[in-house]
Amino acid sequence: MSIKNVAVVGAGIMGSGIAQVAAQTGLNVSLRDTIPGKAAKSKEGIGKQLLKLIDKGKITQEQREHLLSKIEPTDKLEDIKNADIVIEAITEDEAKKKEILGQIEDLVGPDVLIVSNTSSISITRLATYTKRPEKFAGMHFFNPVPIMKLVEVIRGMATSEETLKVVTELGTSFGKTPVTCVDSPGFLVNRCLIPILNEAAYLLMEGAATPEAIDTAMKLGANHPMGPLELADLVGLDTSLAVLEVLYRDFGDPKYRPCPLLRKYVDAGWLGRKTGRGFYKYDR
Ligand code: NAD
Repeated sequence: MSIKNVAVVGAGIMGSGIAQVAAQTGLNVSLRDTIPGKAAKSKEGIGKQLLKLIDKGKITQEQREHLLSKIEPTDKLEDIKNADIVIEAITEDEAKKKEILGQIEDLVGPDVLIVSNTSSISITRLATYTKRPEKFAGMHFFNPVPIMKLVEVIRGMATSEETLKVVTELGTSFGKTPVTCVDSPGFLVNRCLIPILNEAAYLLMEGAATPEAIDTAMKLGANHPMGPLELADLVGLDTSLAVLEVLYRDFGDPKYRPCPLLRKYVDAGWLGRKTGRGFYKYDR
């Protein structure tokens, strides 16, 4: 199966990053969001990222323009109907994903593959919200997508070999290293990583140390390139909490209980970098 047209549904942090790498691969990208004008704004953001690549001498002005011409932002879901594959990257909310997957199912042809970038929701269950569970898989990118080299390719119970092969090849063509795993809560990376972010939030809540001290300790002591709290701010505190809720519920194991301080920050709308405030404050 050859993929030329990609639709990315959800133009937030991840959707715009995915749209950028797909365009860099030479694919035509339709980028869609429910918030009017958001997809166009995300395309502007991609344009700014590409200016940085020009400054670094990695691409030319012509390449930037060509790349941007590959991305078609839209507020209308109908515009995704020519896609060979749809990459769902909307908010981490199962009810919303169920609704959008049903709408995508009704719009695109029966051979079109649908993948989800969910961080934590069962791929096997999401597949049942379509009528093509064998053509459904997880394609889990990492933030920031243009920089992070990994993509987890997740096999749901019904995912076919052929789908897995096409999705894995697409991940490779994006310049990523695909790692395949079966569907299990948190997949591979988040299963290990998100509990660390949660534990750091507990340390902060208990007054054990400042955010800077916790992050410095993990950077120098565990050789992590970023501290857990700055990483939580980058991932988004709402997304981190959503992953924890899933691990806690699906495994029923108290070791995944979300830190109350993390929940308070989310309640306050302090979601990290994207809202200008999380464990740290950011200029926007
Ligand atoms: P985000 O909040 O930045 O973006 C989500 C976007 O989806 C928003 O712009 C929202 O308006 C849009 N949206 C909501 N409902 C929609 C609909 N029905 N149709 C179209 N757009 C809709 O979130 P994000 O961080 O980009 O996360 C998106 C997905 O990627 C989630 O499933 C998340 O778990 C996953 N993910 C996030 C990260 C991360 O580090 N942030 C990493 C890997 C995977």
